[in-house]
Amino acid sequence: MLIVQKYGGTSMGDCERIRNVAQRVAKAKAQGNNLVVVVSAMSGETDRLISFAQSFTPLPNTKEMDMLLSSGERITAALLAIALESLGIKAISLSGRGAGIITDTFHTKARIAYIDTTKIFQLLNEGYVVVVAGFQGISTDGEVTTLGRGGSDLSAVALAGALNATCCEIYSDVDGIYTTDPRLVKQAKKLDKISYDEMLELASMGAKVLLNRSVELAKKLNVKLLCASSFTQDKGTLITKEEDIMEKPIVSGVALDKNQARVSLSDVQDRPGIAADIFGLLADNNINVDMIVQTIGRDGRTDIDFTIPKTEVSLTQQVLEGFKNDFGSIEYDNNIAKVSIVGVGMKSHTGVASTAFKALALDNINIMMISTSEIKISMIINAEFAQKAVEKLHSVYKLEQ
Ligand code: ASP
Ligand code: MG
Repeated sequence: MLIVQKYGGTSMGDCERIRNVAQRVAKAKAQGNNLVVVVSAMSGETDRLISFAQSFTPLPNTKEMDMLLSSGERITAALLAIALESLGIKAISLSGRGAGIITDTFHTKARIAYIDTTKIFQLLNEGYVVVVAGFQGISTDGEVTTLGRGGSDLSAVALAGALNATCCEIYSDVDGIYTTDPRLVKQAKKLDKISYDEMLELASMGAKVLLNRSVELAKKLNVKLLCASSFTQDKGTLITKEEDIMEKPIVSGVALDKNQARVSLSDVQDRPGIAADIFGLLADNNINVDMIVQTIGRDGRTDIDFTIPKTEVSLTQQVLEGFKNDFGSIEYDNNIAKVSIVGVGMKSHTGVASTAFKALALDNINIMMISTSEIKISMIINAEFAQKAVEKLHSVYKLEQ
């Protein structure tokens, strides 16, 4: 089997940890696998390099930043190759350029255009473990580029796709994806498998493990992702196509997002184009609107409620100034939480939503807004009840079992 493994910054944090990674790689190699290993810089290293640059200027030249930041991953790649050789394993490290990772020319936020796999396949055929510096590539202009923060996962997923690897294993200090945040609910359980779409919807929980960008790419390239810890021997969570999951739970997880604020516009002029105008201008200002609820118009007036990231409240206030004459009043509420239940099994089951509503009602928790998709039900409630709501939903769908 050809396996792509990726080790994050904490897993590569110092020489002792790199030795641990080398031993894990050696074990996978001894089992007869071909291995491409993508590495992150040591944890904290990228931030450290950024702070050096910023001691000269707040906005350093992005081409120079790519030269600077790409070095962090080259250090760990070379050290891992050296550690592997010390264990008697034939290993070689490659920079993004060496690995044939070709990107566009957007320095510090480059996108992978394609991967020329010739060299990697040649080295694998010669029996090498190929260690690739993550987070970087070479632009179509021949310059070093980086892929944006957290980008070494993307390197790994893109390589797994291009090499047609059996699996892309992402190792970090988190041992998998849970039914909810284990810090909130002690009974949270690690999932064996979860579909790409559920993982994307649970983003607020999974974000610390995997960027949505990486999950989207894995889905597009049909790459199986395994999220596991490099500090334990536990199995981790497999993120894969829905069709690969035989037993589909109705609800797979409960997510909590406390970073939203609610905006309520009342007595909005009920005319064609008003929503287009308001949300168009918010979009032009890069304000990411999440839930939107509009009530039925009466006497030419309607109410529109929506949520935005808390960090965008003052910008939204500025933008909405321009619409003052189109509505009666406006209210901002920072003290809200969004709880969501996610599961592919919802598509084929009825009563999933009413179970959630009843559970919250029994605890006297008021729901301010509701939105649904095929595999998700989200509710906006008062932030004060967030913890209780998550516990309640987790137990009513028996996720601890
Ligand atoms: N070292 C880079 C960062 O800290 C890339 C990565 O770790 O994935 O953002
Ligand atoms: Mg990282």
